[in-house]
Amino acid sequence: MPSFLRAGLVAFVLAVIFAAWMGNWIVKPLETIEEASRNLSNGEYQQIPLQGPDEVQALAGAYNEMIDQVQASQKSQRDFVANVSHELKTPLTSIQGFSQAMLDGTIDSGPALTKAAGIIKTEADRMYRLVVDLLDLARFDAGTIVLDREALDLSKLLTHVVNQLIPQAAEARVKLSLDVDPLPTCVGDEDRLAQVFTNLVDNAIKHTPVNGFVKLNARSEAGLVRVEIIDSGKGIPEEHLGRIFERFYKVDGSRKKEGKLGTGLGLAIAQQIVQSHEGAISVRSTLGEGSVFGVTIPVVKADDQTVLMDIME
Ligand code: ADP
Repeated sequence: MPSFLRAGLVAFVLAVIFAAWMGNWIVKPLETIEEASRNLSNGEYQQIPLQGPDEVQALAGAYNEMIDQVQASQKSQRDFVANVSHELKTPLTSIQGFSQAMLDGTIDSGPALTKAAGIIKTEADRMYRLVVDLLDLARFDAGTIVLDREALDLSKLLTHVVNQLIPQAAEARVKLSLDVDPLPTCVGDEDRLAQVFTNLVDNAIKHTPVNGFVKLNARSEAGLVRVEIIDSGKGIPEEHLGRIFERFYKVDGSRKKEGKLGTGLGLAIAQQIVQSHEGAISVRSTLGEGSVFGVTIPVVKADDQTVLMDIME
């Protein structure tokens, strides 16, 4: 056989082997991704080994990340439903029990009747608060919450919040004080921000023992206003600090002073509101000494025409 034919044959065989190897190297990992995607629709979540060329490995990596996110989101949905059911079941059980006792005559008059009606009312109020909070969070998640954007005098707003909570602080025998510098104008939703500060001061009063104090300070810093709510309460243990802004998260089951159970949603909502004002909320705490919740809200920028016109009106 002429030598050029032999060389051609060898080249052909090598080319076939190389093509088969290339095909296997690229196609096999792609087939694995395809199979995993099909299994996904049957609810099977499988991680794919990273193999083949860089581009195919990147695809497999992105697929694995997606699987992680889908699983995390499913878990958080399951936890959410479990939490809501639990939070609703507790007051409902009370309401059922006491109303049944009233119906069958076990409780029919006098102080026992008043007490039972009082418990039913308290538990119904608690369910109402929970539903309102859940609706708020659902609207934040869906992005359908509409926040007013108006020029705000935060010192006026904070004074109003503190005045409203003076009776509660007096009843808890906690000294409530306000220390506010003259503040630049901020932009935001007055009612929603009042809700945030009311919640933080309310928490601070509830977690501070008799003869303790709750202070509200507000200062202007570079481009923002910083509000601090300082209490001399029992403080929050380090291991809980990073989680108290999570939905339904409660430290020690959070049985509040007057026997009212918290929902564990207050700080989650406060954080949503502050963040939708492009602000930030943070906490630091020392066990046995107290906690400091800090909220920052940006001040009006010099070129914010809508708000400037609003101020001038
Ligand atoms: P809750 O409805 O239970 O008060 P929050 O979201 O307002 O829910 O608070 C979450 C948890 O953070 C509560 O369980 C409470 O124990 C803790 N917490 C909040 N504020 C304070 C505070 N000032 N001092 C101590 N613990 C606090």
